[in-house]
This record gives sequence, C-alpha cells and structure tokens, in this order.
Amino acid sequence: MNRETAGEQDRGSGPPVVLGAGPALRAAIGGATAAEGTGRIPFNKPYMTGRELFHIAQAVSFENIAGDGYFTQECARFLETRFGLGSALMVTSCTAALEMAAMLCDLQPGDEVIMPSFTFVSTASAVMRAGGTPVFADVRPDTLNIDVDQVEQLINDRTRALLPIHYAGVACEMDRLMALADRHDLIVIEDAAQGVNAAHRSRALGAIGHLGCYSFHDTKNFVCGEGGALAVNDPAMIERAEILRDKGTNRRQFWRGEVDKYTWVDLGSSFVPSEISCAFLLAQFESMDAMQDRRDHLWNLYQDRLKPLAADGLVTLPTVPADCRSNSHIFQLLMNDERTRDGVIAHLAAQDIHAVFHYVPLHSSPMGRKLTPDPARLPVTDDITGRLVRLPMYYELTEADVARVCTAIDTYCRSPATGR
Ligand SMILES: *Cc1c(COP(=O)(O)O)cnc(C)c1O
Repeated sequence: MNRETAGEQDRGSGPPVVLGAGPALRAAIGGATAAEGTGRIPFNKPYMTGRELFHIAQAVSFENIAGDGYFTQECARFLETRFGLGSALMVTSCTAALEMAAMLCDLQPGDEVIMPSFTFVSTASAVMRAGGTPVFADVRPDTLNIDVDQVEQLINDRTRALLPIHYAGVACEMDRLMALADRHDLIVIEDAAQGVNAAHRSRALGAIGHLGCYSFHDTKNFVCGEGGALAVNDPAMIERAEILRDKGTNRRQFWRGEVDKYTWVDLGSSFVPSEISCAFLLAQFESMDAMQDRRDHLWNLYQDRLKPLAADGLVTLPTVPADCRSNSHIFQLLMNDERTRDGVIAHLAAQDIHAVFHYVPLHSSPMGRKLTPDPARLPVTDDITGRLVRLPMYYELTEADVARVCTAIDTYCRSPATGR
C-alpha cells in the first residue's frame, strides 16, 4: 500500500479511529491485529494508555483548551516533582525548548555553542536562529555521546554554551561537562529530547544543566504527537524564560498578580502548547512506570538475544556506563561496515521488519556545509553513522517480535554470502 492509499483509508469510511489501550481495543473496533509471530513489525508505534481521550474530554468540559490551564500545569508539576527540575515550562516541541534555551543565552554574532554533529537538526538550528554559531565536536565510539576531551579543546573565548545530547537516553559525562562549564563560565543546555526518565548518578537528565530540553514527539518514549518542555534549573533564568515563551509578554506575572497589566517586554514567540496536547500527555505521564518497565524489558531481551553475535564480533551492542540509568529509548547496533549495515536493513525489510538508520551528521549535511565549507574532521561520527542500525522499539512490541528480529539479523550475519 502506498502513502496515498493509506491516507485515503484514514479519511475513508472504515471504523472511526479510537484511541485506547492497544491491541485489545483495536481488535474490538475491527482494526488490524496481526497474529503473533507474523505480519509487519514497524519501527515505531506510539502507545496509547487508554486515558488520553478521557483527559481530553475533561479539558473540553473545562471550556479552556488554550494554554496554561489545568493540564498544562499538571504536566509541568509532574516533571518538576519527578525529575527535580527548577521549573518546567511546557512548550510545543523540543525544538521550541531548544530555541528558547538558545535565546536565553543572549548569543552575540560570533558566539559559539559546542555540540555534537551526530544529532538531530534542531540542536544546531536553534542556536543559529538565536544568532550563534554551532561548533561540532566528535562523539565517543562507545556511548555515541559528545567527546568531552574534544569539547575541552574546542573551548575558546568565543564559547558561550555547551549543548550535549543524551543519545538513546544514555547520559553524557555530565560531571565533566558541568566542571568545564563552571571553569569557563559557560551555560550548559542538555538536549534531553531522548532522555526523559533517564538518569546520571541518580539525577534525572534535563535536571543537571542550567537548561534542559525534552521532547514528547510521537517517536519518543512518552508522547502527545508534538510537544516538549523546557527545564529551567538556573533560578536567574526563570522570569525571562516565562516571558519568551508567552510571545515576549509578562502575562504570567500578570496572572500571579505581580504586575497590574501585561504587555510586550521582550522578543519572544508563541511556545505555549494547547491544553488538548497536555491532557493527552498527562495520561502518558500517569503510566510512566509501566511504560518504562516494558521498554527496559524489551531492550534487555534484544541485548540477551544478540550477545552471541556480539561475542563472535559480528555486531557491536550498545554501551550503557554503570553510572547511567537508561530509559531504553533506542536499541541500536553497530555493524562492521556500511555494506553490512545496508544489507541487514534490506534483509529485515524483506521480512516486513522496519529498521532504520540516522543521522546524516550535521557537519556533512547541505546546510552544515554552508555553515562551514571546510568542516573539522569528525572521524568517529563519520564512521559510526555508516554502520548504525536502529531496531524496532515500542511498548506493544512482543517477545515473539524481538525473537523474529534477532533471528533475521543472526541469519543475515552468519550467512557466508552476506555476513562478515
Ligand atoms: C527528537 C529530537 C529533537 C526534536 O524534538 P521535537 O520535539 O520533534 O522538536 C531534538 N533533539 C534530539 C536529540 C531529538 O532526538
């Protein structure tokens, strides 16, 4: 079925789309449920806990579906309490959170922000939109997180901020980064888009830097379609963050009775999400522990099943350092070379299993080349992006699905014709 046909069906006369608790509900309304062990295994599938519609109905009954009502506040309070954040501001996406974070750094032309090239576009575009210059560092070959030795070498008197991303929900070396920032008077922004409910030395990711950015996009662990949050852990930044978020006005201070009228006081934008989004998201937060347990279980299953292949040097498994608590956001493998990586993805696709790779490193993307025509050499980034494959990972993935994926990888890697 091509995209157009799928779209037609979505708008067509089939059963209405009903959110609910997974396969049982879909079966009840006549939706597709593949028999165990057969059928397509998608790469990602957002999980619905079953309470999303209930919360949305409540939001509608409150007759306030704009921003900053009951559900927006409940979501923010949940994040602040559970993760020990200074202040959580719900926003429309992690991209929005990154843009606000960059604006809070007050970047001047020529000011540099050090980040990995191995990341999503928004990490760099947020800095550029705020007038700064991204400077790309290489990553470590084990965790695929920013190489702190190289960060240290890149710091100079134009550096204003460090922007590490926690790849796959595994923490960067935050102690070393915070110490560097302290020594050089830099702001640390954590891109914790993938790190919701993960921790480093028992501190939640997003709570460690001056600022932290979360994503609730459909592809992440806890979702509301499009959504995000900015954690403001430096109390000195909270007032301005609130203003930037609300179109550059001091409306929040007005609501709290701190000023007698609200007006335009700074250059902000519209970063406040709708109550509908936050009502949906609160249902996901309420099921956070169960959703996390399931992901951890599936991640460990992949790890156990693929250990023999790793022992024979045919794949490299992910590394989670002992001081990190991962949220099992991604299960990625490194194949031995690009040919094998492309081959294994094609082999899985032929068996209706959707595995993917990412990222095109930002320094070698068309926009990145415009930024620095002569980019620094980032050998680890260039090497691992050619070898990386991400396996299907979502709440409703079954043990049988994991077994099927692992068997297919095993067959491919051990075949004399294709494996190495
Ligand atoms: C997903 C992601 C983003 C963007 O998140 P949105 O909520 O889609 O804007 C930013 N950075 C990283 C590392 C991501 O994985």
